[in-house]
Amino acid sequence: MIRLENVTKSYSTEVVALRDVSFDVAKGEFVFLVGPSGSGKSTMLRLLNRQERPERGAVWVAGRNIIDMPPSRVPHLRRNIGNIFQDYKLLSNKTVFENVAFAQEVIGRPKHVIRQQVPAVLDLVGLAGKEDRFPHQLSGGEQQRVSIARAFVNRPLILIADEPTGNLDPGTGEGIMRLLDRINKTGTTIVMATHDQRIVNTMRKRVIQLDRGVVVRDQARGVYQ
Ligand code: ADP
Ligand code: ADP
Repeated sequence: MIRLENVTKSYSTEVVALRDVSFDVAKGEFVFLVGPSGSGKSTMLRLLNRQERPERGAVWVAGRNIIDMPPSRVPHLRRNIGNIFQDYKLLSNKTVFENVAFAQEVIGRPKHVIRQQVPAVLDLVGLAGKEDRFPHQLSGGEQQRVSIARAFVNRPLILIADEPTGNLDPGTGEGIMRLLDRINKTGTTIVMATHDQRIVNTMRKRVIQLDRGVVVRDQARGVYQ
């Protein structure tokens, strides 16, 4: 589903964010991307979304070399990827329903499909009955659930989550992890950047650890120390 071959990405001659990074992620895997601040996690996630391009190496996503991909193909790539953020990035003037529906409207899903699929995904994430709330009327955990519903409603092949529990208390974060685990078990590949050791060491999924842009650990059912 994802393949990086000898990827090097620098922002300047002094700042090498990723250095000769290679790994494969199979369909349906759950991967934690860990490492201290500045180790290259966000750069990695931006590469997968083709928001950045490396100066060396190859990046394959869903069977396509995304480095040579013409800009006109990038929207199609992004339909295969759902993104989840630490700060949720919900539209504050739209309701829960409208936030999720928007992800379907922008790719031209017909209204009757939206009317059926939005309630179904809100039920999946545990927000049935809260369709008409605005983001400020929800707890942080609930806002993250809306953001997961929005990322998942179009059934992407890959979910990319950047510190999704970073703003949540431990108990709420655990609920979010259970939800992501459930979504992963439907066959969705998940790549999650985090520095929450407790979560990584509880979930025991694959761990890819970066240190100053270099992979220092790639371990199945791994830990983060
Ligand atoms: P992490 O997500 O693990 O904190 P980043 O990928 O954000 O790591 O950063 C890796 C390195 O690249 C750091 O040295 C950071 O300062 C640098 N960096 C990240 N983004 C940029 C940017 N847009 N311009 C210049 N340097 C950047
Ligand atoms: P948490 O325990 O996750 O932090 P809160 O105590 O913030 O949750 O919220 C508990 C319940 O109250 C949630 O169901 C949430 O939807 C609702 N709620 C929170 N803030 C508001 C608000 N400003 N207006 C309406 N409902 C709210």
